[in-house]
Amino acid sequence: MNFEKLTDRIYYLPATQETDRPILGFIKGTKYSLMVDAGNSPAHVDLYNQALKKLGFSVPDYVAITHWHWDHTFGMCAVDGKVIAHQLTNKQLGIMSSWQWTKEAMDKRLETGEEIAFCDNCIRLEYPDLSLIKVQTADITFQKSITIDLGEIHCELIHIGGPHTNDSVAVYIPEEKVLFIGDAEAPDHYYNGMKW
Ligand SMILES: [Zn+2]
Repeated sequence: MNFEKLTDRIYYLPATQETDRPILGFIKGTKYSLMVDAGNSPAHVDLYNQALKKLGFSVPDYVAITHWHWDHTFGMCAVDGKVIAHQLTNKQLGIMSSWQWTKEAMDKRLETGEEIAFCDNCIRLEYPDLSLIKVQTADITFQKSITIDLGEIHCELIHIGGPHTNDSVAVYIPEEKVLFIGDAEAPDHYYNGMKW
C-alpha cells in the first residue's frame, strides 16, 4: 500500500475496511514529522513505516491521536515517536490498558456493553493472536489545544468533541490549510455520550 499525496508536505495512508483501519496522516516539517493517529495494531504501523520508507522518509517524531477508539490508538505501542493525546483520550486509554484481551474477557465486555459487536469483530480479525494487544497511554497530553512546530509547518491539535466522542481532536495545518478530523463528524457507536 502507498501513501496518497495531499500537498508537498502532507501525505496519508488510505483506510482499509476489512479490519477497520483508518487513514493515517503524515506531515513533514524541516525539523520534525508527525503522524496523525497510531493505527489499529503494530501490523498497521509496520505497513505505514514501510510505505514511508518507499517515499524516502524516516519514521515520525510525533504522533497525534484524534480520539480513543481502538482503531486509532492500538498501534501506539509500536510507534517510535512521542504520542500526543487529549486528557480525556488518555483517561480512557488508562482504563483500557488494564483490560484483559482474551476471548472470555472480550465476550464479557460485549455482554456488559463496554464493547460493541462491530469493533469486537474487527479486533479479532486484526489480531489472530489477541495476546499481541497492548494498550498504552500517551507521552504528552493537553486540554484545549497544543501546537507542534515541525519546522516551517505547524500542527494545531484542537479539542473539538462532537457527536462521535467527547475527546475528538482536530489536527489543523494552517500553512497548507489541511484539516484532519478523525471520525469527529460520525455518530457515537458506543455510549450515546461517554460516561466520563
Ligand atoms: Zn472512532
